[in-house]
Amino acid sequence: MPLSEFDLIRRFFSDCGAQRADVVLGVGDDGAVLECPPGSQLVAAIDTLVEEVHFPKGSPARSIGHRALAVNLSDLAAMGAKPAWALLALALPAADEDWLAQFRQGLDALAQQHEVALVGGDTTGGKLCVTVQIMGFVPHGAALTRRGGQPGDEVFVSGTPGDSAAGLMLEQSRLSVADAGHAQWLLERFRYPTPRVALGLALRGLASACIDVSDGLLGDCGRLAEASGCGVSLDYDSLPVSAALRAAVGEERARELALTGGEDYELCFSVPAAQLEQFVARCPAAQFGWSRIGALRSQRGAVVQRGASVMQVSHRGFDHFG
Ligand code: ADP
Ligand code: MG
Repeated sequence: MPLSEFDLIRRFFSDCGAQRADVVLGVGDDGAVLECPPGSQLVAAIDTLVEEVHFPKGSPARSIGHRALAVNLSDLAAMGAKPAWALLALALPAADEDWLAQFRQGLDALAQQHEVALVGGDTTGGKLCVTVQIMGFVPHGAALTRRGGQPGDEVFVSGTPGDSAAGLMLEQSRLSVADAGHAQWLLERFRYPTPRVALGLALRGLASACIDVSDGLLGDCGRLAEASGCGVSLDYDSLPVSAALRAAVGEERARELALTGGEDYELCFSVPAAQLEQFVARCPAAQFGWSRIGALRSQRGAVVQRGASVMQVSHRGFDHFG
């Protein structure tokens, strides 16, 4: 007998994610009732994943559940917010129990890890489409934004951008990688990105601006600079590239993917010189995995410096000039 909408919600989503004392009323009524901590500001974000737009047809359901929440956690991380509650709007072509169990597992595991409660949602039939809305908190006035950077601030990125783009190519059979371990690493970076929530929280009061890298490091870093009313110069040789990516596509293409790949869900942020010492002390690189990649400057635009020459990068790759 096919699962009714009511049974589906009860079975897979009425008890998903963390139990939280601030959820007065969760899944089951017409709306959730939630208790905001006094002195806090609510930070809200929403992101949709559409099949064949954001993930290929046939992607593992566990990965889709993980990514739908991860991309939202990444937005809160970029704001320096502590995640608390999520809502899930799900359009499904069919009530496939195995698929739903896997999807729930991916969502639930990440939600538990970040103490996020699933407090409501909506379920309909249709082409596979997953929307998660997330809410979290910052102490009053403490949110990180894209706007506070100043010329001279140093620019950092977490993780090894570019891996996810190569993972997507593997998922789509557009890339083959000889070493099975490398292939696995790259595929996992696409399927199970790590939202940098702890780093975002640690950067409160230290970073002058922050953005999460979803559309390619250079573009997103350029958006941070633009919002801050300045430009940015990145250092080609300082770009962090994983051993797996380097082995899979070669040094030059690896750096190109690190700059333009997308779907990394790393944090890119600026730190003023006056805060650098405290930043390094509070956020040790060994623990948070960041690299210094450049600096903000008054001249507008985003450029990549390689030795004495300046490279311009488009989505097609590097164009040299100057
Ligand atoms: P309504 O008729 O009021 O729109 P629904 O039947 O859509 O209610 O949903 C019933 C309850 O189940 C609500 O509390 C809603 O938030 C929750 N819900 C529905 N779909 C989901 C889902 N995919 N994930 C989490 N909660 C859901
Ligand atoms: Mg409804």
